[in-house]
Amino acid sequence: MKQKISAIQEIYREGVKALEDAGIPDAGLDAWYLLEHVTGIKRASYYAHPERELGREEIKRYFSYIEKRGKRIPLQHLTGEQEFMGLSFAVNEHVLIPRQDTETLVETALERMKPGMEVLDMCTGSGCILLSLLRLCREEGVTGTGTDISSDALAVARKNAERLHVQADFRQGDLFECIEQGRRFDMILSNPPYIPVPVMDTLQDEVRLYDPYTALAGGSDGLFFYGRIIGESILHIKTGGLLLFEIGCEQAEAVSGLMKAAGYEDVMVKKDLAGLDRVVAGMYNGE
Ligand code: GLN
Repeated sequence: MKQKISAIQEIYREGVKALEDAGIPDAGLDAWYLLEHVTGIKRASYYAHPERELGREEIKRYFSYIEKRGKRIPLQHLTGEQEFMGLSFAVNEHVLIPRQDTETLVETALERMKPGMEVLDMCTGSGCILLSLLRLCREEGVTGTGTDISSDALAVARKNAERLHVQADFRQGDLFECIEQGRRFDMILSNPPYIPVPVMDTLQDEVRLYDPYTALAGGSDGLFFYGRIIGESILHIKTGGLLLFEIGCEQAEAVSGLMKAAGYEDVMVKKDLAGLDRVVAGMYNGE
């Protein structure tokens, strides 16, 4: 009689093999995260009892996730979460999955943060930038506003605020449209859509097919939103206030130039962990 596979180790190996066959780069890791997501079993317990039997329903659910991942649906859309700055964020198809690169922006903001600052996060998406900042400065009386054109994205951001027990004011609108006239902030941050439209077709399937197009495409040269945000920012930033952007690694010169032309000083570029230009920051010194 052919024995049916039900030991967790065998199930995991099958999962890895299916993802490898589908050409998924981190097959072992992704198969593991999906197994943990379905069973709740942690690594230590897995190694202690590799022969543990899984139930039929669990096995069925596991292989249905494996099949979806094999079709390039991002892991995070299957597990529903992504870690960022050591915190867990809910994600879905309406928001860009938080990237490790973006931690460079939050780290730069943290270095510049002072107690009582009012912060604005433009194109907030999942809220990961604003909420991790507020959470990490929660003893310092920092207040935060996040805006996005997508109400579906804002629903995710609000859910994340609740998950992390952080207060933030999320508003829907096209860039500064939803900010009161004359309201000025100490710090404006943004990871706007910055992929040049002609490059969109070359992105990996997980990004091209499943991240929201509107969160990525930044006009023909990728600079469309930087131009608009920098131009409008001077009506909403205090004298001495800071503007910080995540940028694509080839955009440092162009974005720095736009900021200087608008009256920003001490404009600096910061690299990410891969050594690529990733953040541009400057101080507004106009009236
Ligand atoms: N860094 C993201 C990517 O390469 C793009 C983020 C953005 O457009 N703001 O997929």
